[in-house]
Amino acid sequence: MQTQLLLENKTYVQIPYLRYIAIILLVGLFSFWAFPGQSGTGQTEYVVNHEGYADFLDEEEIQHLKEHQMQNQNRLTLPSPVFSSKFIRQASKDVKKVAITFDDGPHFLTGKYIDILQTYDIMATFFLIGIQVEKYPNEAKKIIDEGYEIGSHSYNHKQLSKMSADSIENDFQKSLATIISIAKTDIRFFRPPFGDFNDTVIQTAKNHNLVTILWCVDPRDWQKDNPEQIAQHVIENAENGAIILLHEGRESTLKALPQIIEGLWEKGFEIVSLSELLSTVH
Ligand SMILES: [Zn+2]
Repeated sequence: MQTQLLLENKTYVQIPYLRYIAIILLVGLFSFWAFPGQSGTGQTEYVVNHEGYADFLDEEEIQHLKEHQMQNQNRLTLPSPVFSSKFIRQASKDVKKVAITFDDGPHFLTGKYIDILQTYDIMATFFLIGIQVEKYPNEAKKIIDEGYEIGSHSYNHKQLSKMSADSIENDFQKSLATIISIAKTDIRFFRPPFGDFNDTVIQTAKNHNLVTILWCVDPRDWQKDNPEQIAQHVIENAENGAIILLHEGRESTLKALPQIIEGLWEKGFEIVSLSELLSTVH
């Protein structure tokens, strides 16, 4: 009786599995018949999902997949002087490009920052704090999923130069693990809290294949409530290769952002990702 039940269960479990195999085989045969010699380039695009069977994608999903692949292909290789530098404040002065960076996020305002960036269709780089990623995982995921570059801004924003080598290493490990636990991504940049560092901090970053990024334009937006003042400082001080420091979680910075973007454009600057800006270093 027990054996029979077991056999019955087994048969029952195998039915959907066999059905999927049969569907895959039929689809394969059909595409070979309908599009001979176009295997993989015809309209029968599909991916194998986690359960192991083929799942057709709708048009929107195919577009998303293509964009994702495009982004990965577009990931620029950083020139070797970038890796040999102790840190970078500014990229090449030969090219009229600048990069906007946001520290101290994610934050509940992150989505609004992204809305503005998307309205103007520009890239930016977000330096994330580990404990903020734990507090706002959806916002962190949004930054990564929407294709923005990210860097580590430490685990809990302590002054790293005051810490032992072991504690610094521990901080790096925790901050990187926290980000990767939210979304698998390529982390290439590190910015020390308060711009404070010593040789151990720099070396630890290098050990983790991270380039230490500082800035050359700082409107001190964290202590200003006037969006016009923030925007004016950025626009007046921007120069070729500039890395601009702004902060997340600030209403005044959020309001200044459209003025900053339009002001930089009016001065003829292209606003690019940190990778693209650093690719000009030689
Ligand atoms: Zn900070």
